[in-house]
Amino acid sequence: MERKVRVRFAPSPTGPLHIGGVRTALYNYLFAKQLGGTMILRIEDTDQGRFVPGAEEYIIDSLTWLGIKFDEGVHVGGPYGPYRQSDRKPLYRQYADQLIANGWAYYAFDTPESLDEIRKSFEAEKKAFQYDVTTRLSLRNSLTLSQEEVNQLLAENHPYVIRFKMPEDEDIIVNDHIRGRVVVHSKLLDDKVLFKSDGMPTYHLANIVDDHLMEISHVIRGEEWLPSAPLHVMLYKAFGWEATMPEFAHLPLLLKPDGNGKLSKRDGDRLGFPVFPTQWQDPKTGEISSGYRESGYFPEAVINILAFLGWNPGTTQEMFTMEELIKAFSIERISKSGAKFDLEKAKWFNQQYLRQHNGEELAKLFMPVLIEKGINITSDKLAVICDLVKERISFVKELWEQTYFFFNAPESYDEQVVKKRWKEDTAAHLDSISAILEAVEPFETTIAHDKVIAYIQENTLNMGQIMNCLRLVIVGAGIGPDLFTIISLIGKEEAIKRIKKGINEIKI
Ligand code: GLU
Repeated sequence: MERKVRVRFAPSPTGPLHIGGVRTALYNYLFAKQLGGTMILRIEDTDQGRFVPGAEEYIIDSLTWLGIKFDEGVHVGGPYGPYRQSDRKPLYRQYADQLIANGWAYYAFDTPESLDEIRKSFEAEKKAFQYDVTTRLSLRNSLTLSQEEVNQLLAENHPYVIRFKMPEDEDIIVNDHIRGRVVVHSKLLDDKVLFKSDGMPTYHLANIVDDHLMEISHVIRGEEWLPSAPLHVMLYKAFGWEATMPEFAHLPLLLKPDGNGKLSKRDGDRLGFPVFPTQWQDPKTGEISSGYRESGYFPEAVINILAFLGWNPGTTQEMFTMEELIKAFSIERISKSGAKFDLEKAKWFNQQYLRQHNGEELAKLFMPVLIEKGINITSDKLAVICDLVKERISFVKELWEQTYFFFNAPESYDEQVVKKRWKEDTAAHLDSISAILEAVEPFETTIAHDKVIAYIQENTLNMGQIMNCLRLVIVGAGIGPDLFTIISLIGKEEAIKRIKKGINEIKI
Protein backbone atom coordinates (compact mmCIF):
# COMPACT_ATOMS: atom_id res chain seq x y z
CA MET A 1 0.00 0.00 0.00
CA GLU A 2 1.22 3.50 -0.83
CA ARG A 3 2.20 5.30 2.30
CA LYS A 4 0.23 8.38 3.27
CA VAL A 5 2.40 11.46 2.88
CA ARG A 6 2.87 13.21 6.20
CA VAL A 7 5.65 15.76 6.58
CA ARG A 8 6.57 18.04 9.41
CA PHE A 9 8.34 21.31 9.87
CA ALA A 10 9.99 21.04 13.27
CA PRO A 11 11.67 24.28 14.32
CA SER A 12 13.17 24.92 17.71
CA PRO A 13 11.91 28.16 19.25
CA THR A 14 15.39 29.53 19.85
CA GLY A 15 14.91 32.86 18.09
CA PRO A 16 13.54 34.17 14.81
CA LEU A 17 13.21 31.75 11.94
CA HIS A 18 16.04 32.11 9.42
CA ILE A 19 14.96 32.18 5.75
CA GLY A 20 16.76 28.85 5.38
CA GLY A 21 14.20 27.49 7.84
CA VAL A 22 11.39 29.13 5.90
CA ARG A 23 12.65 27.44 2.75
CA THR A 24 12.59 24.09 4.58
CA ALA A 25 8.98 24.77 5.58
CA LEU A 26 8.13 25.78 2.01
CA TYR A 27 9.63 22.67 0.42
CA ASN A 28 7.82 20.46 2.93
CA TYR A 29 4.60 22.30 2.13
CA LEU A 30 5.01 22.04 -1.65
CA PHE A 31 5.88 18.37 -1.40
CA ALA A 32 2.91 17.57 0.85
CA LYS A 33 0.37 19.58 -1.13
CA GLN A 34 1.44 18.13 -4.45
CA LEU A 35 0.82 14.64 -3.13
CA GLY A 36 -2.33 15.43 -1.19
CA GLY A 37 -0.40 14.90 2.02
CA THR A 38 -0.48 16.42 5.48
CA MET A 39 1.73 19.26 6.67
CA ILE A 40 2.51 19.42 10.37
CA LEU A 41 4.07 22.08 12.57
CA ARG A 42 5.88 20.57 15.54
CA ILE A 43 7.70 22.75 18.01
CA GLU A 44 10.92 21.15 19.25
CA ASP A 45 11.59 22.85 22.54
CA THR A 46 13.36 20.18 24.54
CA ASP A 47 16.39 22.38 25.01
CA GLN A 48 15.03 24.59 27.77
CA GLY A 49 18.26 26.55 27.97
CA ARG A 50 17.84 27.84 24.43
CA PHE A 51 14.15 28.66 24.65
CA VAL A 52 13.38 32.22 23.58
CA PRO A 53 10.02 33.75 24.47
CA GLY A 54 8.04 34.89 21.46
CA ALA A 55 9.91 32.66 19.01
CA GLU A 56 7.03 30.20 18.56
CA GLU A 57 4.56 33.02 17.88
CA TYR A 58 7.08 34.54 15.49
CA ILE A 59 7.37 31.28 13.53
CA ILE A 60 3.60 30.93 13.21
CA ASP A 61 3.07 34.58 12.31
CA SER A 62 5.75 34.68 9.62
CA LEU A 63 4.70 31.39 7.99
CA THR A 64 1.09 32.57 8.01
CA TRP A 65 2.14 35.80 6.33
CA LEU A 66 3.86 33.77 3.63
CA GLY A 67 0.84 31.54 3.03
CA ILE A 68 2.48 28.33 4.25
CA LYS A 69 -0.43 26.53 5.86
CA PHE A 70 -0.50 23.61 8.24
CA ASP A 71 -3.03 20.81 8.50
CA GLU A 72 -1.90 19.83 11.97
CA GLY A 73 0.25 21.57 14.49
CA VAL A 74 0.77 23.43 17.67
CA HIS A 75 -1.55 26.26 16.59
CA VAL A 76 -4.24 24.24 14.81
CA GLY A 77 -4.34 21.00 16.78
CA GLY A 78 -4.87 17.60 15.20
CA PRO A 79 -5.17 13.91 15.98
CA TYR A 80 -1.46 13.34 16.71
CA GLY A 81 -1.02 16.07 19.32
CA PRO A 82 0.23 17.59 21.42
CA TYR A 83 2.55 19.16 18.88
CA ARG A 84 4.89 20.93 21.27
CA GLN A 85 7.56 18.63 22.66
CA SER A 86 7.56 20.16 26.12
CA ASP A 87 3.86 19.18 26.29
CA ARG A 88 4.85 15.63 25.35
CA LYS A 89 7.47 15.34 28.07
CA PRO A 90 5.93 12.38 29.98
CA LEU A 91 5.95 10.32 26.83
CA TYR A 92 9.65 10.11 26.09
CA ARG A 93 11.06 8.40 29.17
CA GLN A 94 9.50 5.01 28.35
CA TYR A 95 11.31 5.01 25.01
CA ALA A 96 14.65 5.70 26.63
CA ASP A 97 13.90 2.87 29.09
CA GLN A 98 13.00 0.57 26.23
CA LEU A 99 16.42 1.15 24.66
CA ILE A 100 18.17 0.50 27.97
CA ALA A 101 16.20 -2.72 28.41
CA ASN A 102 17.18 -3.88 24.93
CA GLY A 103 20.85 -3.02 25.36
CA TRP A 104 20.75 -0.06 22.97
CA ALA A 105 21.34 2.58 25.61
CA TYR A 106 22.95 2.96 29.01
CA TYR A 107 23.07 5.23 32.05
CA ALA A 108 26.08 7.52 32.21
CA PHE A 109 26.88 9.01 35.61
CA ASP A 110 29.93 11.03 34.65
CA THR A 111 29.79 14.55 35.98
CA PRO A 112 30.36 17.45 33.58
CA GLU A 113 33.53 18.23 35.58
CA SER A 114 34.98 14.74 35.20
CA LEU A 115 34.23 14.77 31.46
CA ASP A 116 35.91 18.15 31.20
CA GLU A 117 39.04 16.81 32.84
CA ILE A 118 39.18 13.85 30.52
CA ARG A 119 38.67 16.12 27.56
CA LYS A 120 41.59 18.27 28.71
CA SER A 121 43.88 15.29 29.17
CA PHE A 122 43.02 14.18 25.64
CA GLU A 123 43.74 17.66 24.34
CA ALA A 124 47.11 17.63 26.10
CA GLU A 125 47.96 14.63 23.93
CA LYS A 126 46.55 16.42 20.87
CA LYS A 127 43.63 14.06 20.68
CA ALA A 128 39.94 14.83 20.57
CA PHE A 129 37.77 13.21 23.18
CA GLN A 130 34.56 11.53 22.18
CA TYR A 131 32.21 9.49 24.37
CA ASP A 132 32.23 6.46 22.11
CA VAL A 133 33.09 2.83 21.64
CA THR A 134 36.78 3.51 22.33
CA THR A 135 36.23 5.42 25.58
CA ARG A 136 32.94 4.29 27.09
CA LEU A 137 34.45 1.31 28.87
CA SER A 138 36.75 3.55 30.86
CA LEU A 139 34.00 5.92 31.95
CA ARG A 140 31.42 5.88 34.72
CA ASN A 141 28.33 4.26 33.28
CA SER A 142 26.10 1.23 33.51
CA LEU A 143 28.41 -0.63 31.13
CA THR A 144 31.32 -0.39 33.55
CA LEU A 145 29.60 -0.29 36.96
CA SER A 146 27.99 -3.32 38.58
CA GLN A 147 24.22 -3.63 38.66
CA GLU A 148 24.27 -2.93 42.44
CA GLU A 149 26.29 0.25 41.98
CA VAL A 150 23.96 1.41 39.25
CA ASN A 151 20.89 0.67 41.36
CA GLN A 152 22.41 2.53 44.28
CA LEU A 153 23.30 5.61 42.23
CA LEU A 154 19.80 5.66 40.80
CA ALA A 155 18.29 5.25 44.28
CA GLU A 156 20.42 8.14 45.53
CA ASN A 157 19.17 10.30 42.66
CA HIS A 158 22.67 10.75 41.39
CA PRO A 159 22.42 12.84 38.22
CA TYR A 160 22.77 10.84 35.05
CA VAL A 161 22.11 10.95 31.35
CA ILE A 162 21.03 8.13 29.07
CA ARG A 163 23.34 7.57 26.12
CA PHE A 164 22.85 5.64 22.91
CA LYS A 165 25.15 2.65 22.60
CA MET A 166 26.47 3.04 19.09
CA PRO A 167 27.38 -0.35 17.58
CA GLU A 168 31.09 -1.02 17.22
CA ASP A 169 31.29 -2.12 13.66
CA GLU A 170 28.47 -1.36 11.33
CA ASP A 171 28.08 0.48 8.06
CA ILE A 172 25.15 2.78 8.54
CA ILE A 173 23.34 3.62 5.34
CA VAL A 174 21.31 6.77 4.90
CA ASN A 175 19.39 6.82 1.64
CA ASP A 176 18.85 10.45 0.92
CA HIS A 177 16.68 11.74 -1.91
CA ILE A 178 19.13 14.56 -2.58
CA ARG A 179 22.54 13.27 -1.47
CA GLY A 180 22.00 9.71 -2.61
CA ARG A 181 23.37 6.79 -0.60
CA VAL A 182 25.46 8.02 2.32
CA VAL A 183 27.44 5.41 4.23
CA VAL A 184 28.96 6.17 7.61
CA HIS A 185 30.81 3.70 9.76
CA SER A 186 29.43 3.44 13.28
CA LYS A 187 32.85 3.56 14.92
CA LEU A 188 33.17 7.20 13.87
CA LEU A 189 30.06 8.19 15.76
CA ASP A 190 29.76 9.05 19.43
CA ASP A 191 27.31 7.79 22.00
CA LYS A 192 24.88 10.69 21.87
CA VAL A 193 22.90 11.67 24.93
CA LEU A 194 19.26 10.70 24.41
CA PHE A 195 17.88 11.72 27.76
CA LYS A 196 19.21 14.52 29.91
CA SER A 197 19.64 14.92 33.63
CA ASP A 198 16.86 17.54 33.63
CA GLY A 199 14.34 14.83 32.73
CA MET A 200 13.98 16.01 29.15
CA PRO A 201 14.80 14.00 26.05
CA THR A 202 17.38 15.45 23.69
CA TYR A 203 16.50 16.51 20.18
CA HIS A 204 17.56 13.13 18.78
CA LEU A 205 15.30 11.00 20.94
CA ALA A 206 12.28 13.30 20.85
CA ASN A 207 12.61 13.84 17.11
CA ILE A 208 12.67 10.11 16.28
CA VAL A 209 9.93 9.18 18.75
CA ASP A 210 7.70 11.96 17.47
CA ASP A 211 8.35 11.29 13.80
CA HIS A 212 7.39 7.69 14.50
CA LEU A 213 4.29 8.44 16.56
CA MET A 214 3.15 11.14 14.15
CA GLU A 215 3.63 8.69 11.27
CA ILE A 216 5.93 11.01 9.37
CA SER A 217 6.62 9.62 5.91
CA HIS A 218 9.32 12.04 4.72
CA VAL A 219 11.85 14.09 6.64
CA ILE A 220 12.79 17.13 4.55
CA ARG A 221 15.23 19.33 6.45
CA GLY A 222 18.41 21.34 6.18
CA GLU A 223 21.75 19.79 5.37
CA GLU A 224 23.06 20.69 8.81
CA TRP A 225 21.09 17.67 10.06
CA LEU A 226 22.74 15.20 7.69
CA PRO A 227 25.47 14.33 10.23
CA SER A 228 22.70 13.32 12.67
CA ALA A 229 20.96 11.12 10.13
CA PRO A 230 23.09 7.98 10.74
CA LEU A 231 22.24 8.15 14.45
CA HIS A 232 18.60 8.58 13.53
CA VAL A 233 18.71 5.56 11.24
CA MET A 234 20.28 3.56 14.08
CA LEU A 235 17.56 4.73 16.45
CA TYR A 236 14.86 3.46 14.08
CA LYS A 237 16.69 0.15 14.03
CA ALA A 238 17.07 0.08 17.82
CA PHE A 239 13.35 0.69 18.29
CA GLY A 240 12.43 -1.89 15.68
CA TRP A 241 10.75 0.79 13.56
CA GLU A 242 12.82 0.35 10.43
CA ALA A 243 9.87 -0.69 8.29
CA THR A 244 8.16 2.66 8.79
CA MET A 245 11.28 4.83 8.91
CA PRO A 246 10.67 8.09 7.03
CA GLU A 247 12.48 8.81 3.78
CA PHE A 248 15.10 11.53 4.04
CA ALA A 249 15.87 14.60 1.95
CA HIS A 250 18.55 16.99 3.21
CA LEU A 251 18.34 20.41 1.56
CA PRO A 252 21.45 22.27 0.38
CA LEU A 253 22.74 25.14 2.49
CA LEU A 254 21.81 28.73 1.82
CA LEU A 255 25.06 30.55 1.16
CA LYS A 256 26.19 34.15 1.42
CA PRO A 257 25.99 36.07 -1.90
CA ASP A 258 29.71 35.47 -2.56
CA GLY A 259 29.28 31.77 -1.87
CA ASN A 260 31.73 31.95 1.02
CA GLY A 261 29.95 30.08 3.77
CA LYS A 262 26.53 29.72 5.21
CA LEU A 263 24.17 32.69 5.23
CA SER A 264 24.13 33.56 8.90
CA LYS A 265 21.91 35.60 11.16
CA ARG A 266 24.47 38.37 11.21
CA ASP A 267 24.88 38.61 7.43
CA GLY A 268 21.55 40.16 6.58
CA ASP A 269 21.83 43.64 7.96
CA ARG A 270 25.53 43.76 7.12
CA LEU A 271 24.92 42.89 3.46
CA GLY A 272 21.76 44.96 3.10
CA PHE A 273 19.03 42.34 2.96
CA PRO A 274 16.99 40.58 5.63
CA VAL A 275 17.69 36.98 6.65
CA PHE A 276 14.40 36.77 8.51
CA PRO A 277 10.90 36.65 7.03
CA THR A 278 9.54 39.31 9.37
CA GLN A 279 11.13 41.79 11.71
CA TRP A 280 12.38 40.39 15.00
CA GLN A 281 13.13 42.17 18.21
CA ASP A 282 15.39 40.28 20.58
CA PRO A 283 13.50 40.07 23.88
CA LYS A 284 16.71 40.33 25.90
CA THR A 285 18.75 42.98 24.13
CA GLY A 286 15.93 44.79 22.33
CA GLU A 287 18.02 44.60 19.16
CA ILE A 288 15.95 44.66 15.98
CA SER A 289 16.70 42.50 12.95
CA SER A 290 15.01 43.43 9.70
CA GLY A 291 12.44 41.25 7.98
CA TYR A 292 11.22 40.84 4.43
CA ARG A 293 7.72 41.94 5.38
CA GLU A 294 8.82 45.22 6.92
CA SER A 295 11.35 45.80 4.14
CA GLY A 296 8.48 45.91 1.68
CA TYR A 297 8.65 42.52 0.02
CA PHE A 298 5.42 40.91 -1.11
CA PRO A 299 4.91 37.48 0.45
CA GLU A 300 4.47 36.01 -3.04
CA ALA A 301 7.89 37.38 -3.98
CA VAL A 302 9.56 35.89 -0.91
CA ILE A 303 8.02 32.51 -1.71
CA ASN A 304 9.26 32.77 -5.29
CA ILE A 305 12.74 33.83 -4.14
CA LEU A 306 13.01 30.95 -1.67
CA ALA A 307 11.59 28.38 -4.07
CA PHE A 308 14.49 29.10 -6.42
CA LEU A 309 17.17 28.95 -3.73
CA GLY A 310 18.05 25.31 -4.20
CA TRP A 311 15.42 24.22 -6.70
CA ASN A 312 14.60 24.99 -10.31
CA PRO A 313 11.72 23.87 -12.51
CA GLY A 314 13.95 22.85 -15.42
CA THR A 315 12.21 25.38 -17.67
CA THR A 316 12.72 29.10 -18.24
CA GLN A 317 9.66 30.05 -16.19
CA GLU A 318 10.68 32.19 -13.23
CA MET A 319 7.43 33.58 -11.87
CA PHE A 320 5.47 31.00 -9.92
CA THR A 321 2.42 31.34 -7.77
CA MET A 322 2.12 29.00 -4.81
CA GLU A 323 -0.33 26.89 -6.79
CA GLU A 324 2.08 26.66 -9.70
CA LEU A 325 4.93 25.74 -7.36
CA ILE A 326 2.84 22.97 -5.85
CA LYS A 327 2.35 21.53 -9.33
CA ALA A 328 5.93 22.01 -10.54
CA PHE A 329 7.91 21.09 -7.42
CA SER A 330 9.97 17.95 -7.33
CA ILE A 331 12.64 16.74 -4.92
CA GLU A 332 14.61 15.40 -7.91
CA ARG A 333 15.20 18.96 -9.07
CA ILE A 334 16.67 20.13 -5.77
CA SER A 335 20.38 20.79 -6.23
CA LYS A 336 23.10 19.19 -4.15
CA SER A 337 25.27 22.26 -3.98
CA GLY A 338 24.61 25.25 -1.76
CA ALA A 339 22.36 28.02 -3.06
CA LYS A 340 23.81 31.54 -3.12
CA PHE A 341 21.51 34.32 -2.07
CA ASP A 342 21.22 36.89 -4.86
CA LEU A 343 19.96 40.29 -3.71
CA GLU A 344 19.44 41.68 -7.21
CA LYS A 345 17.36 38.67 -8.15
CA ALA A 346 15.35 39.07 -4.94
CA LYS A 347 14.60 42.69 -5.83
CA TRP A 348 13.73 41.66 -9.37
CA PHE A 349 11.14 39.21 -8.08
CA ASN A 350 9.60 41.90 -5.91
CA GLN A 351 9.51 44.27 -8.84
CA GLN A 352 7.70 41.69 -10.96
CA TYR A 353 5.08 41.18 -8.27
CA LEU A 354 4.74 44.92 -7.78
CA ARG A 355 4.00 45.31 -11.49
CA GLN A 356 1.21 42.79 -11.18
CA HIS A 357 -0.59 45.19 -8.85
CA ASN A 358 -2.77 47.79 -10.52
CA GLY A 359 -2.76 51.46 -9.55
CA GLU A 360 -5.72 51.01 -7.26
CA GLU A 361 -4.02 48.26 -5.25
CA LEU A 362 -0.80 50.21 -5.01
CA ALA A 363 -2.71 53.32 -3.94
CA LYS A 364 -4.17 51.34 -1.05
CA LEU A 365 -0.68 50.37 0.08
CA PHE A 366 0.69 53.88 -0.44
CA MET A 367 -2.16 55.87 1.08
CA PRO A 368 -1.13 55.28 4.73
CA VAL A 369 2.30 56.76 3.95
CA LEU A 370 0.65 59.91 2.60
CA ILE A 371 -1.80 60.17 5.49
CA GLU A 372 1.16 59.93 7.84
CA LYS A 373 2.72 62.87 6.00
CA GLY A 374 -0.52 64.84 6.26
CA ILE A 375 -1.15 64.70 2.51
CA ASN A 376 -4.73 64.70 1.33
CA ILE A 377 -5.50 63.02 -1.98
CA THR A 378 -8.34 60.95 -3.42
CA SER A 379 -7.74 57.23 -3.99
CA ASP A 380 -8.65 57.64 -7.65
CA LYS A 381 -6.04 60.26 -8.27
CA LEU A 382 -3.44 58.34 -6.27
CA ALA A 383 -4.19 55.24 -8.34
CA VAL A 384 -3.41 57.19 -11.53
CA ILE A 385 -0.14 58.43 -10.01
CA CYS A 386 0.84 54.92 -8.89
CA ASP A 387 0.16 53.54 -12.35
CA LEU A 388 2.35 56.24 -13.86
CA VAL A 389 5.46 55.34 -11.85
CA LYS A 390 5.10 51.67 -10.99
CA GLU A 391 7.48 50.54 -13.74
CA ARG A 392 10.24 52.57 -12.09
CA ILE A 393 10.21 50.91 -8.68
CA SER A 394 10.75 47.54 -7.00
CA PHE A 395 9.14 48.34 -3.65
CA VAL A 396 6.07 50.22 -2.48
CA LYS A 397 8.33 52.23 -0.18
CA GLU A 398 10.04 53.65 -3.28
CA LEU A 399 6.77 55.23 -4.40
CA TRP A 400 7.42 58.35 -2.35
CA GLU A 401 10.74 59.19 -4.00
CA GLN A 402 9.08 58.80 -7.41
CA THR A 403 5.98 60.82 -6.61
CA TYR A 404 6.67 63.40 -3.86
CA PHE A 405 6.46 66.22 -6.42
CA PHE A 406 2.83 65.40 -7.10
CA PHE A 407 2.04 66.47 -3.54
CA ASN A 408 4.61 69.14 -2.71
CA ALA A 409 6.17 72.04 -4.60
CA PRO A 410 9.96 71.77 -4.78
CA GLU A 411 11.88 73.05 -1.77
CA SER A 412 15.13 73.01 -3.65
CA TYR A 413 16.36 72.54 -7.20
CA ASP A 414 18.84 70.01 -8.48
CA GLU A 415 22.05 72.00 -8.84
CA GLN A 416 23.40 69.82 -11.62
CA VAL A 417 20.35 70.55 -13.75
CA VAL A 418 20.49 74.26 -12.93
CA LYS A 419 24.13 74.41 -13.91
CA LYS A 420 23.65 72.55 -17.12
CA ARG A 421 20.34 73.97 -18.33
CA TRP A 422 19.48 77.31 -16.77
CA LYS A 423 20.47 80.22 -19.03
CA GLU A 424 20.24 84.01 -18.79
CA ASP A 425 16.94 84.12 -20.65
CA THR A 426 15.35 81.01 -19.10
CA ALA A 427 13.36 82.90 -16.49
CA ALA A 428 11.83 85.17 -19.14
CA HIS A 429 10.81 82.21 -21.32
CA LEU A 430 9.32 80.33 -18.38
CA ASP A 431 7.38 83.45 -17.51
CA SER A 432 5.92 83.47 -21.03
CA ILE A 433 5.12 79.79 -20.75
CA SER A 434 3.28 80.39 -17.49
CA ALA A 435 1.22 83.05 -19.27
CA ILE A 436 0.45 80.55 -22.03
CA LEU A 437 -0.75 78.01 -19.47
CA GLU A 438 -2.80 80.69 -17.74
CA ALA A 439 -4.58 81.48 -21.01
CA VAL A 440 -5.67 77.89 -21.67
CA GLU A 441 -9.20 77.95 -20.36
CA PRO A 442 -10.74 75.48 -19.71
CA PHE A 443 -7.41 73.86 -18.97
CA GLU A 444 -6.74 70.99 -21.38
CA THR A 445 -3.31 69.44 -21.03
CA THR A 446 -2.95 68.53 -24.70
CA ILE A 447 -3.78 72.07 -25.75
CA ALA A 448 -1.38 73.48 -23.15
CA HIS A 449 1.28 71.08 -24.38
CA ASP A 450 0.83 72.05 -28.04
CA LYS A 451 0.92 75.75 -27.24
CA VAL A 452 4.13 75.45 -25.22
CA ILE A 453 5.77 73.45 -28.01
CA ALA A 454 4.63 76.02 -30.55
CA TYR A 455 6.12 78.83 -28.41
CA ILE A 456 9.48 77.06 -28.25
CA GLN A 457 9.49 76.44 -31.99
CA GLU A 458 8.37 79.94 -32.97
CA ASN A 459 11.18 81.44 -30.90
CA THR A 460 13.63 78.85 -32.22
CA LEU A 461 14.58 77.87 -28.69
CA ASN A 462 16.34 74.68 -27.64
CA MET A 463 13.54 72.22 -26.92
CA GLY A 464 15.55 70.07 -24.49
CA GLN A 465 16.84 73.04 -22.58
CA ILE A 466 13.48 74.73 -22.07
CA MET A 467 11.58 71.53 -21.29
CA ASN A 468 14.23 70.50 -18.77
CA CYS A 469 13.99 73.86 -17.05
CA LEU A 470 10.21 73.63 -17.00
CA ARG A 471 10.56 70.21 -15.40
CA LEU A 472 13.09 71.63 -12.97
CA VAL A 473 10.69 74.26 -11.63
CA ILE A 474 7.73 71.85 -11.48
CA VAL A 475 9.54 68.81 -10.03
CA GLY A 476 12.73 70.25 -8.52
CA ALA A 477 14.88 67.76 -10.42
CA GLY A 478 15.30 66.10 -13.77
CA ILE A 479 13.17 63.09 -12.84
CA GLY A 480 9.62 61.87 -13.16
CA PRO A 481 7.12 60.74 -15.78
CA ASP A 482 5.85 62.81 -18.72
CA LEU A 483 5.91 66.47 -17.69
CA PHE A 484 2.50 67.43 -19.05
CA THR A 485 0.96 64.44 -17.30
CA ILE A 486 2.45 65.79 -14.08
CA ILE A 487 1.06 69.24 -14.90
CA SER A 488 -2.38 67.83 -15.57
CA LEU A 489 -2.35 66.03 -12.22
CA ILE A 490 -1.13 68.94 -10.10
CA GLY A 491 -3.42 71.34 -12.01
CA LYS A 492 -2.92 74.60 -13.82
CA GLU A 493 -2.78 76.86 -10.79
CA GLU A 494 -0.24 74.79 -8.94
CA ALA A 495 1.89 74.52 -12.09
CA ILE A 496 1.89 78.30 -12.54
CA LYS A 497 2.69 78.81 -8.85
CA ARG A 498 5.66 76.48 -9.16
CA ILE A 499 6.94 78.20 -12.30
CA LYS A 500 6.83 81.57 -10.52
CA LYS A 501 8.49 80.14 -7.42
CA GLY A 502 11.25 78.64 -9.56
CA ILE A 503 11.84 81.87 -11.43
CA ASN A 504 12.18 83.67 -8.10
CA GLU A 505 14.40 81.15 -6.40
CA ILE A 506 16.74 79.90 -9.10
CA LYS A 507 19.71 82.20 -9.48
CA ILE A 508 22.75 81.73 -11.63
N1 GLU B 1 14.40 21.02 15.67
C1 GLU B 1 15.23 20.84 14.53
C2 GLU B 1 15.52 22.22 13.96
O1 GLU B 1 15.44 23.15 14.68
C3 GLU B 1 14.55 19.95 13.54
C4 GLU B 1 15.46 19.23 12.62
C5 GLU B 1 14.68 18.15 11.89
O2 GLU B 1 13.87 18.55 11.03
O3 GLU B 1 14.85 17.00 12.19
O4 GLU B 1 15.82 22.43 12.82
